[in-house]
Amino acid sequence: MTVVPGAAGAGRRSTVRPGHARRVNCPCGSIRPLGECCGPVIAGERPALTATDLMRSRYTAYATGERDHLVRSWSPVTCPVDLKLDPSLRWMGLEIVGSERGGALDADGVVEFVARFVGADGPGELRERSRFGRVDGRWVYLDGEVGPGSV
Ligand SMILES: [Zn+2]
Repeated sequence: MTVVPGAAGAGRRSTVRPGHARRVNCPCGSIRPLGECCGPVIAGERPALTATDLMRSRYTAYATGERDHLVRSWSPVTCPVDLKLDPSLRWMGLEIVGSERGGALDADGVVEFVARFVGADGPGELRERSRFGRVDGRWVYLDGEVGPGSV
């Protein structure tokens, strides 16, 4: 699509105001804005309280290209040294299907999710059961089992 500046809505004032991005719902699908949802976890301003919290923030990091957060929230044992994000993927939504443990008082947890994306070959989805553990008290992603139905 070619965007012609000023072609649409010419003469109207821009509706984008400073801070606008903070009011857009978080990519992880919550009804809270990014700045009150995954934003502070990605920025390292607050830890993820639950495994599901961390899962959401990792999805949002994929969606917004925050590679550093993905590396920081990945177990050093299983994190790929050459982790690269695929810039051609557009992440369209996250659905948490279920979770086991992963609460504020648990040492480990499992989060099952479906993440939808559009890539060079069209739309696809990733179904995964992710395992989470703790390093120095912080939740980290350990590994995941990709489920049937993933494309
Ligand atoms: Zn979020």
